[in-house]
Amino acid sequence: MNEQLLPSDPYLLRIIERYLVLQLTAVRRRLAQSGGSGVSQAGGDVHAQGGRVESTGARSARPAPEWVLQLGIGARRQPVAVHCGGCAAARGSVVPVSRRDALEALAGGVEPCFACRPDRELQVD
Ligand SMILES: [Zn+2]
Repeated sequence: MNEQLLPSDPYLLRIIERYLVLQLTAVRRRLAQSGGSGVSQAGGDVHAQGGRVESTGARSARPAPEWVLQLGIGARRQPVAVHCGGCAAARGSVVPVSRRDALEALAGGVEPCFACRPDRELQVD
Protein backbone atom coordinates (compact mmCIF):
# COMPACT_ATOMS: atom_id res chain seq x y z
CA MET A 1 0.00 0.00 0.00
CA ASN A 2 1.24 3.46 -0.88
CA GLU A 3 1.28 5.38 2.39
CA GLN A 4 1.24 8.66 0.51
CA LEU A 5 -2.37 7.95 -0.44
CA LEU A 6 -3.52 7.53 3.16
CA PRO A 7 -5.25 10.46 4.87
CA SER A 8 -3.53 12.09 7.83
CA ASP A 9 -6.73 12.32 9.89
CA PRO A 10 -6.53 9.72 12.71
CA TYR A 11 -10.30 9.23 12.62
CA LEU A 12 -10.22 8.34 8.93
CA LEU A 13 -7.21 6.08 9.51
CA ARG A 14 -9.16 4.22 12.23
CA ILE A 15 -12.05 3.68 9.83
CA ILE A 16 -9.67 2.32 7.20
CA GLU A 17 -7.97 0.14 9.83
CA ARG A 18 -11.28 -1.32 10.93
CA TYR A 19 -12.31 -2.02 7.35
CA LEU A 20 -9.03 -3.82 6.66
CA VAL A 21 -9.29 -5.85 9.88
CA LEU A 22 -12.78 -6.96 8.89
CA GLN A 23 -11.58 -7.91 5.42
CA LEU A 24 -8.57 -9.82 6.72
CA THR A 25 -10.69 -11.59 9.30
CA ALA A 26 -13.17 -12.68 6.63
CA VAL A 27 -10.36 -14.00 4.41
CA ARG A 28 -8.76 -15.91 7.28
CA ARG A 29 -12.04 -17.43 8.32
CA ARG A 30 -12.66 -18.56 4.75
CA LEU A 31 -9.17 -20.04 4.69
CA ALA A 32 -9.81 -21.85 7.95
CA GLN A 33 -13.08 -23.21 6.58
CA SER A 34 -11.33 -24.46 3.48
CA GLY A 35 -8.73 -26.29 5.54
CA GLY A 36 -6.08 -23.59 5.42
CA SER A 37 -4.00 -25.25 2.72
CA GLY A 38 -1.94 -23.20 0.31
CA VAL A 39 -1.48 -20.33 2.74
CA SER A 40 2.29 -20.38 3.07
CA GLN A 41 2.95 -19.24 -0.49
CA ALA A 42 1.52 -15.80 0.18
CA GLY A 43 3.78 -15.04 3.10
CA GLY A 44 1.29 -15.39 5.89
CA ASP A 45 1.11 -12.91 8.73
CA VAL A 46 0.40 -9.22 8.84
CA HIS A 47 2.84 -7.62 11.25
CA ALA A 48 2.05 -4.03 10.41
CA GLN A 49 -0.06 -3.78 13.55
CA GLY A 50 2.86 -4.82 15.72
CA GLY A 51 0.92 -7.74 17.07
CA ARG A 52 1.40 -11.45 17.03
CA VAL A 53 -1.37 -13.53 15.56
CA GLU A 54 -1.71 -17.17 16.39
CA SER A 55 -1.49 -19.81 13.69
CA THR A 56 -0.50 -17.80 10.68
CA GLY A 57 0.01 -19.60 7.44
CA ALA A 58 3.70 -19.04 6.85
CA ARG A 59 4.82 -20.76 10.02
CA SER A 60 2.20 -23.40 10.49
CA ALA A 61 0.22 -25.74 8.32
CA ARG A 62 -2.38 -26.02 11.05
CA PRO A 63 -5.67 -24.20 10.44
CA ALA A 64 -6.44 -21.33 12.79
CA PRO A 65 -8.07 -22.42 16.04
CA GLU A 66 -11.79 -21.89 16.07
CA TRP A 67 -11.66 -19.53 19.07
CA VAL A 68 -8.92 -17.62 20.85
CA LEU A 69 -8.61 -15.63 24.07
CA GLN A 70 -6.57 -12.43 23.96
CA LEU A 71 -4.65 -11.99 27.19
CA GLY A 72 -3.95 -8.69 28.87
CA ILE A 73 -0.61 -7.40 30.02
CA GLY A 74 0.74 -7.65 33.54
CA ALA A 75 1.51 -10.50 35.86
CA ARG A 76 -2.01 -11.94 35.90
CA ARG A 77 -2.54 -11.83 32.12
CA GLN A 78 -6.30 -11.96 32.42
CA PRO A 79 -8.35 -12.60 29.28
CA VAL A 80 -9.43 -9.27 27.79
CA ALA A 81 -11.24 -10.39 24.64
CA VAL A 82 -12.68 -13.42 22.89
CA HIS A 83 -11.99 -13.73 19.16
CA CYS A 84 -12.87 -16.10 16.37
CA GLY A 85 -9.76 -17.94 15.25
CA GLY A 86 -7.69 -16.07 12.69
CA CYS A 87 -9.04 -12.65 13.68
CA ALA A 88 -6.57 -9.96 12.67
CA ALA A 89 -7.63 -7.83 15.63
CA ALA A 90 -6.34 -10.43 18.12
CA ARG A 91 -3.16 -8.65 19.13
CA GLY A 92 -0.52 -9.50 21.69
CA SER A 93 -0.76 -12.83 23.44
CA VAL A 94 -3.52 -15.12 22.30
CA VAL A 95 -4.29 -18.67 23.30
CA PRO A 96 -6.49 -21.13 21.42
CA VAL A 97 -9.54 -22.27 23.38
CA SER A 98 -12.43 -24.64 22.89
CA ARG A 99 -15.93 -23.49 22.05
CA ARG A 100 -16.92 -24.24 25.62
CA ASP A 101 -14.08 -22.11 27.02
CA ALA A 102 -15.01 -19.27 24.67
CA LEU A 103 -18.62 -19.45 25.83
CA GLU A 104 -17.54 -19.49 29.48
CA ALA A 105 -15.28 -16.48 28.95
CA LEU A 106 -18.12 -14.49 27.36
CA ALA A 107 -20.48 -15.55 30.16
CA GLY A 108 -17.84 -14.46 32.65
CA GLY A 109 -17.72 -10.95 31.26
CA VAL A 110 -14.80 -11.10 28.83
CA GLU A 111 -15.57 -8.75 25.94
CA PRO A 112 -16.32 -10.15 22.47
CA CYS A 113 -14.14 -8.69 19.73
CA PHE A 114 -15.81 -5.83 17.86
CA ALA A 115 -14.42 -7.03 14.54
CA CYS A 116 -15.05 -10.77 14.40
CA ARG A 117 -18.03 -10.85 16.80
CA PRO A 118 -17.55 -14.28 18.38
CA ASP A 119 -20.72 -13.71 20.37
CA ARG A 120 -22.68 -13.83 17.12
CA GLU A 121 -20.85 -16.93 15.95
CA LEU A 122 -21.46 -18.60 19.29
CA GLN A 123 -25.03 -17.30 19.26
CA VAL A 124 -24.71 -15.61 22.64
CA ASP A 125 -26.94 -12.65 23.44
ZN1 LIG B 1 -11.63 -10.62 16.76
